[in-house]
Amino acid sequence: MFDTLSDKLDSVFKKLRGHGKLTEQHIKETMREIRLVLLEADVNFKVVKSFVSRVGERAAGQEVLKSLTPAQQVIKVVREELAELMGEGEDNSLDLAARPPVPLMLCGLQGAGKTTTCGKLALKMRRDKRNPLLVPADVYRPAAIEQLKTLGRQLNIEVFDSHAGQDPVDICTRAREYAELNGFDTLILDTAGRLHIDEELMGELKRIVANVAPQEILFVADAMTGQDAVTVAKSFDEQLPLTGVVLTKLDGDARGGAALSIRAVTGKPIKLVGMGEKLDALEQFHPDRMAQRILGMGDVLSLIEKAQSAVDEEDAAKMEQALRKDGFTLETFLEQMQMVKKMGSIDSLLKMIPGAGKAMKQAKGMQLPEEELKKIEAIIRSMTKKERLDHKILNGSRRLRIANGSGTRVQDVNQLLKRFVEAQKMMKKMQKMGPKGLKGMLGG
Ligand code: GDP
Repeated sequence: MFDTLSDKLDSVFKKLRGHGKLTEQHIKETMREIRLVLLEADVNFKVVKSFVSRVGERAAGQEVLKSLTPAQQVIKVVREELAELMGEGEDNSLDLAARPPVPLMLCGLQGAGKTTTCGKLALKMRRDKRNPLLVPADVYRPAAIEQLKTLGRQLNIEVFDSHAGQDPVDICTRAREYAELNGFDTLILDTAGRLHIDEELMGELKRIVANVAPQEILFVADAMTGQDAVTVAKSFDEQLPLTGVVLTKLDGDARGGAALSIRAVTGKPIKLVGMGEKLDALEQFHPDRMAQRILGMGDVLSLIEKAQSAVDEEDAAKMEQALRKDGFTLETFLEQMQMVKKMGSIDSLLKMIPGAGKAMKQAKGMQLPEEELKKIEAIIRSMTKKERLDHKILNGSRRLRIANGSGTRVQDVNQLLKRFVEAQKMMKKMQKMGPKGLKGMLGG
């Protein structure tokens, strides 16, 4: 995400760090460079102009020039202003406080990710202990209704039965009645999209709004389309009472323009972000954390939250029991790795750790963590239960058998065992430290 933008900002700051004290000339030069970097990232030019003028003003102020670490101070100002630009301090949570069923409407151009986001949102609602009903109201794109029905089946979430050719307003109204009668507390309306904005579509969306009064009207924007997404968002916002934005495809190599401009141009908060095609890849948007990620500072808070949501209480309890009974064995090692895997791709997780993104790029020869994990899993699965519980019995012939069984080499088995022994030592240390020590390690 935003790799080019991050790299370029990093080079700007690197130059700045080379100077002990900063002069006004340095600041001016830095602002000029930041301006270029943001324009290259496809940020709206008016947004860039006011951003750079705010940062420049603060950076030229006494808080920076007199400080002992002026470069750090400039970065701090940039971080704060980036966060501000994306809506830091505003309430961007979904507003669900209404008499159920609460209708949530998603709109946007075709291909932006509306239907996928409807599925993701339904899953999020269920995880938040709500009972959602998916409503397909895109009667023009032939596959749209079927796509939502498939998502519903995958998630085991009911999809209101609608068909091509029906009136979308009628579908939404009937779905609302159906939800009321059948105990659904949230309606997720998937509306039609076109390739371009047209009067007819806007008319239809307005009628849906007038008839079902959605509590949230979310504009779904494809982050990969940069300024185009912002322009379309603006037109939608002029015609519909949007309450927020969902930014999709942030897992791709979007340049950053949409994320950094859309809130400033429309005045509407980014509420959610799509981080992948999978149905659990929808996250709440946190402006300050996003600013940190852009500046390569990682995002430890999101990482911890992800860990908490991936490891359910049952898994954790099972793990604790196993640890108590047998200690930290290859079996618990494998389980632990599977828990980590549930949190998403290892590569994306590593990027959330401060500095790890850069380190990964430098270690080019390194095998992909994802593949490495598969190998480890294969090796441990080729062991007998007895071997998993006591790695010390793994002599040469057992190691060879395991390597053959898992399609790896004896070196791989040896390396895994070495790693395991290290992890075991670390676990022992952590157990001695207790929860307080762990918190300290995570910087909490
Ligand atoms: P719609 O026409 O607006 O309903 O768009 P779809 O929901 O059909 O999505 C269009 C394409 O974008 C599909 O291939 C989705 O899998 C993909 N997509 C949607 N959201 C994301 C996301 O957050 N990340 C990635 N990588 N792909 C996404």
